Parts: sequence; structure tokens; C-alpha cells
Amino acid sequence: MADVDEERNDNLLTYVMAEQSDRSTPPPAKIPRPDEEKKIVLVTGGSGMVGKAIRTVLEEEEANEKEEWVFLSSKDADLRSMDETRALFAKHHPTHVIHLAALVGGLFRNMKYKADFLRENLLINDCVLHCCYEFGVEKCVSCLSTCIFPDHTTYPIDETMIHNGPPHSSNFGYAYAKRLIDVQNQAYHEQHGCHFTSVIPTNIFGSFDNYNLEDSHVIPGLIHKCYMAKANNTELTVWGSGKPLRQFIYSKDLGRLLLWVLRNYDEIEPIILSVGEEDEVSIKEVAEMIAEAMDFKKPLVFDTTKSDGQFKKTASNAKLKRYLPDFKFTDIKQAIRESVDWFVKNYDQARK
Ligand code: NAP
Ligand code: GDP
Repeated sequence: MADVDEERNDNLLTYVMAEQSDRSTPPPAKIPRPDEEKKIVLVTGGSGMVGKAIRTVLEEEEANEKEEWVFLSSKDADLRSMDETRALFAKHHPTHVIHLAALVGGLFRNMKYKADFLRENLLINDCVLHCCYEFGVEKCVSCLSTCIFPDHTTYPIDETMIHNGPPHSSNFGYAYAKRLIDVQNQAYHEQHGCHFTSVIPTNIFGSFDNYNLEDSHVIPGLIHKCYMAKANNTELTVWGSGKPLRQFIYSKDLGRLLLWVLRNYDEIEPIILSVGEEDEVSIKEVAEMIAEAMDFKKPLVFDTTKSDGQFKKTASNAKLKRYLPDFKFTDIKQAIRESVDWFVKNYDQARK
């Protein structure tokens, strides 16, 4: 009797395994490359702020002749389409991927387009991660965000707490799509042994940011508003009470850290890339820094009819500091000055 049961179980197992392998496309045979030692690093979202920052850091500080870098924009492929994404991977055969492409925006854009943020990011992430699997990519690093953390939580928030409760209602579309990257990374690792991981940056700012007045994040939005207020001799209106707290990271610092993650970080679990808790600032303080960098002298006006969003999302960078105890973040005032200078100098071409 036991033998019959065992046989039946074996048959069932064979059947289930056959079913499973039918469902998931096996990775294609490895394409022989002329220089096996060379990494081919594909950067999705390479034309955005973070992609440009990686490019700058590579050019100025961190070039490595054993790496060939390909920076992509949406013109190379619409990553919401599996066919276009597959064609892109078939063209480049990356060994490594830094996955940045996403529908991105500040609080007010997130509040307006929750379904778009959910769907577009789900589609993009599914296409990119599945192609990483199909094409045998050795390592993929994707980008989450501290704004995906639970709204009701204890502080500081760390990497283990991503799924511990619903995100803030203002951006739940974006947040759930991004949280799923962590779930996808674990699933591809456990089922297929893939090395897919993710980073969790705080609010990012710098050159090549989106400086749109309505849809951007707070720093680029206020830089643009201050520029207009100065040019037209009007007030600088900060949305909300100015009281919420944020940690910010300069895009160049993030570029440096992403290179380190790609080259040296081996965990599947995410890592928070942030300044320390002691460097958290209020929106009012940030607005004052921007006004100072722009030499704008009028008092700030706060429009409290506008949303404050999540009050704070204080994140711990203890894990990062264990790996990189000596990493120095750019001083926020210096980084804001550099971003203001970039925006003023590149006003005509800046995304706005
Ligand atoms: P960004 O400047 O808005 O750039 C977005 C990039 O994604 C662009 O290269 C864009 O291509 C590309 N893209 C968008 N939709 C696409 C599609 N359907 N197909 C192909 N490419 C597409 O964004 P970012 O600020 O550099 O953000 C990079 C990553 O960091 C994102 O994953 C974002 O979620 C994350 N993040 C950002 C912040 C922040 O404060 N900005 C904070 C935390 C995490 P085009 O240039 O052709 O449009
Ligand atoms: P978040 O950090 O993900 O919430 O996104 P943002 O970068 O959009 O920051 C939102 C915070 O900045 C909220 O407290 C807003 O009330 C405040 N804020 C003040 N002025 C602006 C502005 O011009 N644009 C944006 N996006 N937020 C602003």
C-alpha cells in the first residue's frame, strides 16, 4: 500500500514539475561572448535623473574597463510591453541590470494618478524582471523608495518592515507596485536561483530631475517656483504646512552607492540608501535652503490648503553603515546649491 502511494506521489510530482516547467520559459542557452570577463550593464531608465547620475559618477570617478554600460530611455523600448522588452534584451544580452525605469512623481502626481502608478509600474517591473530571468542576467538591482513603507509604524523604519502594513493613502498605487519588486526578487530567487535585489533610496534630487511645477518632487518643484518668483518679483508659495520631515539624498551620492551595490552587495534583501536619522529636515527648512541658494529674500508663504502627505518616514541607514562605515554624503546645502546652479544654467533644456 505504502509503495502504491509513493508511486502515485512520484507520478504526481513529475506531473507538477512538468506543468511548472511548461509555465515558466526556461532561460535561453548562454550566448558566448568575445570577452567572458566583461560585464554588460543595462540601465533601464538611464535617461532619468538617477541614470544620469550613475553616468556622471562613472565618467568622473569610477570607470571600469571590464564593464560596458548601456543607458536606455523609453525611446529604446516601452518596458510595459513584453515584446519590446524581450527584443531589447535580445539585442544587448546584458549580464547585469540596474532597473530604474518607472512612472515617477511627487506627492501631488501620485495622488492624481494612483491607477496609472500601480499599473504602469507593475507592467514595467514584470517585463524587466522576467526578461532578466529569461536571458540569464547574473544580477539585477531595482529601485524601491522609502515612501512605500507602512504609514502606521515605529521609527526608524528598517529593511525588514516594508510589508508590515498599508502604505500612506496618498501613494498606495506606486507603493504596492514597488513593494512587489521585493516579492518578485524573493520568488525568482527561491524558484530559479536568480540574484535579483533592490535598494531603497529616500527622496532624491539633483541635475536632470523633473522640475515640473505640479508633478515633481518637492526640491525640484520649489527650485523652479523660486526661480519664477525671483524672475517675476512674486512670493514663493510652499505647499502644505512645511512641517513634514524628510531625508533627502543627492543623486550623485545615490549614483556612487548604486555602483557599490551592483559590484559588491550580495544579499537578495533590500538595503536602505539614506542619510542618517539625524539629517532629517523639515519641508520649511528645505524651502529656506532653496531660497538662500537662489538669493531670494522675501518671506515664504505656506499654502495649508494643500496636502502635507505622510508626516515622516524616518529610515534607518544602520545596514548601509555596517557595510560602508566611511561613506560621506554630500552636505544638503551644498547639494541644493549645485542643483540650483544646474537648473539655472540649463533652464531651457531642463525637464519642467
Ligand atoms: P525619472 O528621472 O523620472 O526617470 C524615469 C526613467 O524611466 C526615464 O529614463 C524614463 O524614460 C524611464 N521610463 C519611464 N517609463 C518608461 C517606460 N514605459 N518604458 C521605458 N522607460 C520608461 O526618475 P528618477 O527620479 O531617476 O527615478 C529612478 C528610480 O528611482 C525610479 O525607479 C524611482 O521610482 C526611484 N525613486 C525615485 C525617487 C525620487 O525622489 N525621484 C525616490 C525614491 C526612488 P524617458 O526619459 O524616455 O521618459
Ligand atoms: P514625498 O516625499 O514622497 O511625500 O514627495 P514630495 O517630494 O512630493 O514631497 C511632498 C512634501 O513636500 C509634502 O509635505 C508637500 O506638502 C511638500 N511640498 C511643499 N511644496 C511642494 C511642491 O512644490 N511640490 C511638492 N511635490 N511638494 C511640496
